[in-house]
Amino acid sequence: MDDSNLKFVIVGHVDHGKSTLIGRLLYDTDSLPPDKIEEIKKTSKELGRETEFAYLLDHLEEERTQGITIDTTQVFFKTKKREYVIIDAPGHVEFVKNMITGASQAEAGVLIVDVKEGLKEQTRRHSFFLSLLGIKQIIVVLNKMDLVAYSKERFEEVKRELESFFSSLGFIPLNYIPISAYRGDNISKKSDKLNWFEGPTFLESLDALKCKGSKEKEPLILPVQDVYKIQDKRIAVGRIEAGRLKVADLVKILPSGLNTKILSIEKFKERPQEAVAGESIGFTLKNDVFIERGNVVCSPLNGPSFTDNFSAIIFWFSKNEFSKEKRLEIRCATQKSTCKIERIRERIDSSTLNVIEEDAEVLKNLEVAKVDIKTKKPLALKNFSEVEELGRFVLSQEGNICAGGIITSV
Ligand code: GDP
Repeated sequence: MDDSNLKFVIVGHVDHGKSTLIGRLLYDTDSLPPDKIEEIKKTSKELGRETEFAYLLDHLEEERTQGITIDTTQVFFKTKKREYVIIDAPGHVEFVKNMITGASQAEAGVLIVDVKEGLKEQTRRHSFFLSLLGIKQIIVVLNKMDLVAYSKERFEEVKRELESFFSSLGFIPLNYIPISAYRGDNISKKSDKLNWFEGPTFLESLDALKCKGSKEKEPLILPVQDVYKIQDKRIAVGRIEAGRLKVADLVKILPSGLNTKILSIEKFKERPQEAVAGESIGFTLKNDVFIERGNVVCSPLNGPSFTDNFSAIIFWFSKNEFSKEKRLEIRCATQKSTCKIERIRERIDSSTLNVIEEDAEVLKNLEVAKVDIKTKKPLALKNFSEVEELGRFVLSQEGNICAGGIITSV
């Protein structure tokens, strides 16, 4: 068993079979309690259909809206190799928002395409988002093979159509897999009906994905979330985003640039000597150097960039149009500043991917843009591809989040 779990997202055009695939995965990996299965069988029978896995998700969704037990935004299942978390993407706006704000982070993406219908508008848009968000591991499943009599020719035809579209985005999926989520062909076991296909089953292709590399060996990055005064100690808390921290280590505090040493590491009822990337900790500093929320503790020699300008890709969620003279507030990890978008290099239609305009003055709802941003105060920043937490930000206007973005060049 791999020691970590792997998070992925399933995206695709509406009705191409996302819910059915999720239901099927849960069923085939024995991740469902028996009473749930009975219930679904019963509902399906009442409706005169075979077991309909899409009902499962509806059912879970219903429980969620009633505030009970299962959270459909995080669905779990296990193979012999490891545990998986499917991050549900109810709509592309929520998905991009969650990814960009860090509410959920997918390490891989599964794009589902109805083989009868082929490439559709949302297939394009979702693929674009996967590439925008830097998700490099993509599996494409061509679903509903049963509806095209398991035809190899049709599979190849849609595959070619997708290949030429993806090449315009500059990404190459790991594999294209013919499946029927409904019938269970090529999900957890090979199917006789698809014996012309020599590639892996869907589960095999998931098991072949790589987990994100550990960040422990990288230079330290620890954004400060809060500082508590307990008796006469000031304990700062935060999550180590990269690197490791030991008692007596020399660290640098941004923005002050002061160097100091770690006096203690504090965890609930523990005082460990060391903590690593991924852990949330409390810590105290020698000489009680002043520290507050929004500071970033880093390696003294190899810190993040400390700068007031950078290039980024942003996604404009707000219904309100953006015009360039407007002031915005930027939040990156726990840091905050006012900022301006100094240049909108390209305005992009998120559905067609066409560049609408270069050197634009405005941005409209659901548009994507390549921009240059200038902040009032310098911030500790990294490219998104290096340290996500310092490479991802949200922009707000009068208290409302209006865009999310990732830093492409700092
Ligand atoms: P979603 O909108 O992407 O979540 O799509 P659903 O999972 O709700 O599926 C939409 C419809 O397609 C439902 O009626 C499913 O039963 C049907 N469907 C999904 N997968 C398959 C498949 O492999 N074969 C067939 N014949 N129908 C499927």
